[in-house]
Order: sequence, then C-alpha cells, then structure tokens
Amino acid sequence: MIRILRLRRACAVAAMTLALLTPALRAQETQTEEMEKRAKLLQTLPQDAAKRHFGAARAGTGGEARTIGSYAKGCIAGARALSTDGPTWQGMRISRNRNWGHPDLIALIERIAKTAPREAGWRGLLVGDISQPRGGPMLTGHASHQVGLDADIWLTPMGSRKLSVDERETISATNVVASDWMDVDPNRWTDAHHAIIRLAAEQEGVTRIFVNPAIKKALCREATGDRAWLSRVRPIWGHNYHFHIRMGCPDGDSACLDQTPPPPGDGCGEELTDWLNLQHKAYFGPKPPSSGKPKPVKHMPLSAMPEACQKIVLSR
Ligand SMILES: [Zn+2]
Repeated sequence: MIRILRLRRACAVAAMTLALLTPALRAQETQTEEMEKRAKLLQTLPQDAAKRHFGAARAGTGGEARTIGSYAKGCIAGARALSTDGPTWQGMRISRNRNWGHPDLIALIERIAKTAPREAGWRGLLVGDISQPRGGPMLTGHASHQVGLDADIWLTPMGSRKLSVDERETISATNVVASDWMDVDPNRWTDAHHAIIRLAAEQEGVTRIFVNPAIKKALCREATGDRAWLSRVRPIWGHNYHFHIRMGCPDGDSACLDQTPPPPGDGCGEELTDWLNLQHKAYFGPKPPSSGKPKPVKHMPLSAMPEACQKIVLSR
C-alpha cells in the first residue's frame, strides 16, 4: 500500500517534471542570460507579485536574524551576506545578489569550507545561490531558498587561483551524472565528491542535502561505516551540477516552519529505485501530450505572504 501511495505521489510529481527540470538548469545560466530573463519577466509580472518586491530588495534589514514561514514561502530579516571570497571558498554568479542567508547558515558554509580540504580532499567551495537579501520568492529559479536556510554548492571544487568576476558569471559547474541519468559519470565523479557531500550532511543543524537520484545511488554504493548521514541525503530532480544544503529552523524562531525530518534508514532501497526509474522515464519515456498553449503562470501576490514578510520586504 505504501508503495502504491508513493508511486502515485511520484506520478503526480512526474507531471511536473519538465517544469521542474528547468530551474535546476537555471543555476548554470550566465549573467547575460539571467538578466535577459529577469527583464522579460518584469515586463509582464503583476505589480503586486511577491517576487517583484523581494527581487528588488538590494540589502538586508540589518538587526537580529528572524526567519518567517517555510522554505518555499517565507522570508528572513537580519540576513548576512557571505563574503565573495574566503580562504577556501569563492562566491559564484555574484551579480545575482543571492549570497544572503541566516547567520547560522553563513557560519556553516564557512565551517564546511574550512574543513573541506583536510576532511574531504576538496580544495574549497564554489558557492552558488543562497537567498536574496530579505529572502522570499525569486524572479528566476528556485521554489525554495526563501528563508535563508538553503545554499547551493557547486559540484566543482575550487581551483588553485581566484576566479575573475567574468569567470564567475559565465563558467559552468560540472555535471557529474551519466547521460542515461541512472548513475554518476565515472569520468567525473570522484571520492572527493562523495566526501564533500558526506561532510556537509554530517554537520550539526543540517536536516537535508538534496542531490540527483543518480548521485544518491553512488553514495549508497560507496558509503562505508556509519550510514546515518545518508538519511539526510534526499534524491530530487536536477541537482546534478550542484548539491543543496538545508538547515532546520534556528532555535527560538517560532515563526519558522520546519519540515518533518526525513524518514529513518539510509533511503537506499525502493524509494531510490523508484526515483531513478521515474527520472529515466521523464527523460526517455513518451512525452505527455501537450495542448500547444503555454500554461498561464500564477504569481503569488505579496498579500499572500506571511504578514511579517510583507513588512520585512517593505521596510527601509
Ligand atoms: Zn538549491
């Protein structure tokens, strides 16, 4: 029964597959592509759309950090910006201004970056999108990343030199998944990929790491010793160029809506097989018939966001 329910849910998810695959690829868009996309959207986006307001915030509110709402419908006050550069990290796609997060998340990224060379044989982190200065929905990409507790880390280790501004806006991360989407690409996947994901999953405060099902398959096969960390590594669409770190709600933030913890166990059995098959079908199976007309896109109005978020985005 559980299996049937799970598959039914998976089918519902499959209907959204193509729509969802696109955001995963957006992480790779260059500055020019991203700017064009934003400009085009702003021409037709309703004035009261929440993403218009949150997308226009250039800086955080300052003050004490407060997370409000859920990962996919919320915001943050008092977010901190991750420095563009650190000894063992470099910020990518900096023109997007999405290097803001809860101070706990920023500290976590700095901590992982610091230990990555020694513990994972990973020279340093290339950090992708975190959140906007006040969180909230974004003009492009990402359904989540709204409360400053999500961060994308590229599946490419930092190189030995500092990347130029232009390189950070244009180069692409490494796709570690094989072309059949059923496993990792052995020419690109390394022990260090395994180790950096494990290192992130074992950090205090981390509740989920999202990776492509093909990556989870490799982790399941290779993991030795304690496997408890694997329960936090969750298969999801995309996430073949980067992995996504999610922290739980900070202590005492009563307006922050947490997710139920992932089910116990390593998640390497039936659930993973279902995901792999579903993904394979989405790419190579028959495509659902299309009406030919683009579906109208609904944009959440600011008034539908939690009240505190409306204040946060409008405050000076
Ligand atoms: Zn992400």
